[in-house]
Amino acid sequence: MVRIEDYTPIVGSTEIDSIRELTEHVKGAKVVHINATPFGGGVAEILNCIVPLAKSVGIDAIWQTIKGETDFFLTTKKIHNALQGDNTVELTEDMMRVYLGTNRSNASQLDLDGEVVVIHDPQPLPLIEGGREGKWVWRCHIDTSSPNTKVWSLINGYIKKYDAVIFSLERYVPRDLSKMRVLIDYPTIDPLSAKNAPLSTGEIQKVLDRYDVDPDRPIVGQVARFDPWKNPLGAIDVYRRVKEKIPNLQLLMIGSFANDDLDGVEWHKKAVKYAGSDRDVHILTNLDGVLNKEVNAFQRSLSVALQLSIREGFGLTVTEALWKGVPVVGTKAGGITLQVIDGVTGYLVESLEKAAESTELLIRRPWLARELGHAGMQHVRLNFLITKGLKNYLRMHIELVGK
Ligand code: UDP
Repeated sequence: MVRIEDYTPIVGSTEIDSIRELTEHVKGAKVVHINATPFGGGVAEILNCIVPLAKSVGIDAIWQTIKGETDFFLTTKKIHNALQGDNTVELTEDMMRVYLGTNRSNASQLDLDGEVVVIHDPQPLPLIEGGREGKWVWRCHIDTSSPNTKVWSLINGYIKKYDAVIFSLERYVPRDLSKMRVLIDYPTIDPLSAKNAPLSTGEIQKVLDRYDVDPDRPIVGQVARFDPWKNPLGAIDVYRRVKEKIPNLQLLMIGSFANDDLDGVEWHKKAVKYAGSDRDVHILTNLDGVLNKEVNAFQRSLSVALQLSIREGFGLTVTEALWKGVPVVGTKAGGITLQVIDGVTGYLVESLEKAAESTELLIRRPWLARELGHAGMQHVRLNFLITKGLKNYLRMHIELVGK
């Protein structure tokens, strides 16, 4: 079981003491979290870590997921894409009926009786409709800086019913919400979770052997759901460009299939087809047994981590790579720009050509990669670890409930 004092060697006792002080104000408070999937993607990752930790400091935190049929998740994926700026999305009356109907039937099944109820992302957003107690917060994890206006107008009425909204970046806050109570909260990672805890070189080697990845040759990789916004085909393009210069290069593409992400299967197929018969491209998923520990080992084996997203909420995969001392070559999308400080923790690029150049440079200069990786780890230690996330969580609670 997780204990807050276990983090002392990583963040220092002053930080742990200040967390303990805050917990005095909120002991026993019930906080309910609702999202759409127990596994796959950043939100599940965050909740998997923060809920047990919040419990360990005396909060009665509970986490539930909404249930829905395929047509519900197809609709919510459309809403997700529309909020990230896809203007081709249209929501029909039928889709809205499924969206609202599924939320209504979930409302009667879920325990929504918290002092604070935190609803994550658009899938369970309309749960607020069915009457409520406590303070309700909508936690948006995606980039809503330029949403599809038609879709936005269909759902923003629900958002306005909330007591507060939380976004990952200031610039994601849509203008028409400016009168609401708006909080900004950077996502964080748990340095002690199976995904991020230290691994011995033997354990890393075992994972590479199991999947037939050569530990003696350079490896680049992108960990991301198979989703067009993550640009999986772009990652293959970058690898190919670099491979022309460094022929023994290998590419790892690690992705998982989340329950609420029905495009994943299709985009996985596209990536496999695009990679063709290249035996140095390894496309692996949770269905191949690549779970937290394997992702951890693979991330640690990389010379360079790629994150070539077209749109990105925050990009926990970037945080995870940096924490492992791996420099990141990333696009200037969303939260990647907070984490990749150009020339310091990695390189921020505007084209796949630049991504390939930067990747090649870091493979050729291991000393440079080491310096950037080290700076990345410090950057994460100061800004994006779960102890900071927990502090913000406790402060939010105190602010909302007024204790
Ligand atoms: N992830 C994973 N296995 C995979 C792909 C992703 O466990 O095969 C995790 C990844 O390690 C990270 C999260 O899913 O913790 C993705 O979060 P991110 O913020 O990068 O993107 P999102 O999926 O939320 O858009």
